[in-house]
Amino acid sequence: MTEWTPDSWRTKEIFQQPKWPVNKLDETCAKLAKLPPLVFAGEIESLKEQLAAASRGDAFLLQGGDCAEDFSSCNATYIRETMKVLLQMAVVLTFGANKNVVKIGRIAGQYAKPRSSYTEMVNGLELPSYRGDCVNSPEPTLEARTPNPDRLMQAYFHSTATLNLLRAYVQGGYADLHKVHVWNKEFVANSSEGQRYESIAAKIDSAISFMEACGVNSTQVPQLKRTNIYTSHEALILPFEQAMTRQDTLSGRWYDCSAHMVWIGDRTRQIDAAHMEFFRGINNPVGMKVGPTMDPDELIKILDILNPNNEAGRINLISRFGHGKIGSMLPPLVKRVRDEGRNVLWSCDPMHGNTFTADSGFKTRDFQFITDEIKGFFDTHGEAGTVPGGLHFELTGANVTEICGGAQKISDLDLGNNYQTNCDPRLNCQQSLELAYDIAEMLQK
Ligand code: PEP
Ligand code: MN
Repeated sequence: MTEWTPDSWRTKEIFQQPKWPVNKLDETCAKLAKLPPLVFAGEIESLKEQLAAASRGDAFLLQGGDCAEDFSSCNATYIRETMKVLLQMAVVLTFGANKNVVKIGRIAGQYAKPRSSYTEMVNGLELPSYRGDCVNSPEPTLEARTPNPDRLMQAYFHSTATLNLLRAYVQGGYADLHKVHVWNKEFVANSSEGQRYESIAAKIDSAISFMEACGVNSTQVPQLKRTNIYTSHEALILPFEQAMTRQDTLSGRWYDCSAHMVWIGDRTRQIDAAHMEFFRGINNPVGMKVGPTMDPDELIKILDILNPNNEAGRINLISRFGHGKIGSMLPPLVKRVRDEGRNVLWSCDPMHGNTFTADSGFKTRDFQFITDEIKGFFDTHGEAGTVPGGLHFELTGANVTEICGGAQKISDLDLGNNYQTNCDPRLNCQQSLELAYDIAEMLQK
């Protein structure tokens, strides 16, 4: 293989890039390359260790957040509510899986989106598609939709502000296990389906009381007061990711310091193309979406490229087939990876294979199909004797109406009540927690 450099991807064919005004892009990226990294190598390596544990079944990964973050939601309330729902789900899943839950947000940098077409028709006008806040703005005018490199700089500073507050919350006492447990009790008490969750809630309650009776509390065990939420995004816009890629002074290894973990989307994972080239040289844990078009030979070839040393914790394969396809399409891949002895963490994204347009015209997903895909994921790994290592969700702490179903029984007709997303539909706070309890129940059986 040819030598890797942070810009060696430039010799390859590249997919899903905006049509930038060229000179301004280079100027912005040169400035970005001089700014401090968002995360550093030591943290990235700790995450890798934890993901290695999850791949062995000794921990469990929960990854979640917006489909696309937007600059206008970069405020204390929104960040706090996203963090809160992740923490609440994590406590329920810790109990369900009886394992440490590694938390990764789709947060502090999830600003770029792949799209099926360069342009779209809005109100009879053909406009460039919205590609995420680091590229353009969703308003339906030509000016707003024209890719603007200044937005990459704005994305950097919005990511910095988000990450700063996230670190403050999770390290500063806001994530105290007892507080999170109190929020969960409130959820169960107020949920229309609360009774269904009471037995799990009561078990968690008694586990915590038992710990306290033994003198295990957050004064004595600071870990109960603090946690970590790692960051991740789809590393799509390679000039930006290159600018954030830095060489660790201690080890000499290269890391993409825009997030702890980055992933390759289903549309940019072509062998011998630019994204694959970029990802092979960075030392972060990398995710890759695995959808219906992936075949087992191709997957093994990709693992040869991305993880030639078969390092544990390096690769997170994020399956996303849809509830109807997972049962037939995931098993051959899982078995091949198992038989080849490849170290990977398998996780399940039950969102992206289950998107459809409702009669009302809103892009949505059905809570039941999401649950079904998760069941299919656990069943597949159960049968193959492999580890179902984690889950990947699009969710928000806000009370949106973007996904049908759940205890609130959101119907097609309700979607318009509070449909906020600029991109894919997200589980709202209540749906996210319900799902966590449902999964805990599945895991307990
Ligand atoms: C996403 O995770 O938002 C996404 C675009 O997913 P995929 O690449 O799996 O379609
Ligand atoms: Mn999405």
